[in-house]
Amino acid sequence: SVEIRSLSKHFGSVRALHDVSLDVRAGEFISLLGPSGSGKSTLLMAIAGFVGCDGGQILVNGSDITPLAAERRSLGVVFQGYALFPHMTVAENVAYPLKLRKLPGAEIARLVKAVLDLVKLAGMEDRKPRQLSGGQQQRVALARAFVFQPSVVLLDEPLSALDKQLRSELQFELKSLHERLGTTFINVTHDQEEAMAMSDRVAILRNGKLEQVGTPQDVYNRPSSRFIAEFVGHAA
Ligand code: ATP
Ligand code: MG
Repeated sequence: SVEIRSLSKHFGSVRALHDVSLDVRAGEFISLLGPSGSGKSTLLMAIAGFVGCDGGQILVNGSDITPLAAERRSLGVVFQGYALFPHMTVAENVAYPLKLRKLPGAEIARLVKAVLDLVKLAGMEDRKPRQLSGGQQQRVALARAFVFQPSVVLLDEPLSALDKQLRSELQFELKSLHERLGTTFINVTHDQEEAMAMSDRVAILRNGKLEQVGTPQDVYNRPSSRFIAEFVGHAA
């Protein structure tokens, strides 16, 4: 589970997050939605530990991770700015989090093979990222996020660069990973159709505040404000 308690973040005079509290159950798939600049990525980066916060707490499975550096939080992350290492092969990219954790070589090889099978990249181990399609690169990033079997995975628009066909294929794969592994997902997306189809709940941000959290049906059928009604109505 992930408990976010009264999180606030300013960038200079910009209030990116304002007193955000959100409980994500273990095994839940939740999507963060909201207009551009509403604080979605900032919230995800704060959970990941890539940006510090002015106030608040983050608990993962009951323990407070707020004081921990990003690499000690043991969260799987797929961020746009957190690209693959271009000089490393697919296998080396995926093995990286395991090397950081100093796992034995044989164990690393086993886990890398298993996760590459899972994302259907078996046979591509020795390629460099530039020798892969965009969708294959996204899968490598997903494999790298999943390889150490994190209980929580954070995704910031991991599918946005893909065409519609690939996107729905990967949506399907993500959903099946979610079902098979019971991982908790916090997923940022602009694609409301994707969010509504994949998520147990959606959380809608506006100007750094959580405006409404509920099941996709809830926010459609019982929007808590005119803003939400227009926001979800707009893309429907
Ligand atoms: P988008 O949908 O466009 O990705 P977002 O919801 O992810 O938007 P954030 O990136 O979280 O929005 O940004 C929230 C606010 O914080 C915006 O006003 C943005 O300009 C500001 N902001 C984000 N990162 C920084 C930074 N490193 N320095 C200064 N301001 C920032
Ligand atoms: Mg963003």
